Amino acid sequence: MASVDLRGLRKAFGSVGAVAGVDLAVRSSEFVALLGPSGCGKTTTLRLVAGFLAPDEGEIRVDGRVLSAPGRVVPPERRGMAMIFQSFALWPHKTVADNVSYGLKFKGVDRAEAGRRVEAMLRTVKLEAFADRYPGELSGGQQQRVALARALVVEPGILLLDEPLSNLDANLREEMRFEIRRLHEAFGITTLYVTHDQAEAIATADRIAVMHRGRVVQIGSPQEVYDRPHSAFVAAFLGRTNLIPGWVEGPEAFHATRGTPVRTAPAPAHLVGQAGVVSIRPHHLRLQAEAGPPNRFEGKVLRATYFGEGMDFLVDVPSLGQSLRVSAPPTPQVAVGEPVTLTADPIHCLVLPEE
Ligand code: ATP
Repeated sequence: MASVDLRGLRKAFGSVGAVAGVDLAVRSSEFVALLGPSGCGKTTTLRLVAGFLAPDEGEIRVDGRVLSAPGRVVPPERRGMAMIFQSFALWPHKTVADNVSYGLKFKGVDRAEAGRRVEAMLRTVKLEAFADRYPGELSGGQQQRVALARALVVEPGILLLDEPLSNLDANLREEMRFEIRRLHEAFGITTLYVTHDQAEAIATADRIAVMHRGRVVQIGSPQEVYDRPHSAFVAAFLGRTNLIPGWVEGPEAFHATRGTPVRTAPAPAHLVGQAGVVSIRPHHLRLQAEAGPPNRFEGKVLRATYFGEGMDFLVDVPSLGQSLRVSAPPTPQVAVGEPVTLTADPIHCLVLPEE
């Protein structure tokens, strides 16, 4: 499979710098998710990789060969890539089998061989019984499987997916995440996957590249990015968290804006003596006071929401001048209006820069 290297990539639309200097190396057979909020430049990056857009600066190499540079772009059909869009983009008047075989005809594969490959691919995506149906006769999830089959059957070196699950309902989306990962493990195609859905990125990707304002601000395995975010932005975008603004007094000493001390995990040296934030995930706050931990915050329950698998509390903490989200098991614990003491192990109190 092919490796993809983006170096110093920039693309502006008028005065909008959609992609503002992206460096990203995707290894052969790796699955990388581009994750970020709306407008951060994910789709523009993908369209640059696909060859639909030319960069203003920088270059894109595939296996070391330059496919895009300012004024020099190998056209999409000659880049050995397949792309899957949010809209599926199936041919409505062709059957499932004809949709899947379309790219093979285009590549000049003979009919008998194309027939064999289409049949095998439909088996892989569990649609062998639907070969003669039309897209309008399929559910959203089945249509998405056809789109996947059509992209994979041409054996691309690189697969590009742009929010491929956003038109599906919540249950199907969850199922299709696992399906996309399964197909990746079966075929090992180098994949770039654009999404704003953190759960999708976590379930599918080997590495997540978090984008913000046209740049990749952090890249790592899902666990690395979740457990060791480099900034408050990344901590808040990947999973829920509580952010407490303040001042970094020392390597393990933080003062919240109201002066309340928070014992933290060791802070990066360059943040000491600066303004910063402490990030505490809701499941790292304990609702009942535990003996021992130095971080104890007195508060009052503002909201208690039952979610079946757990409870979500919002607790007002006057000493911090803000409320904190707390996740807890679903056993009845405390009611709205009751006083509580929250505790947090310093190891889970991460000192981060704002950006
Ligand atoms: P979303 O998740 O909403 O699709 P995104 O992260 O994929 O967002 P892009 O579509 O790459 O973001 O857009 C990045 C920025 O570039 C946005 O401000 C967008 O308005 C702008 N932009 C994108 N395409 C064009 C275009 N063809 N003309 C003008 N501006 C554009």
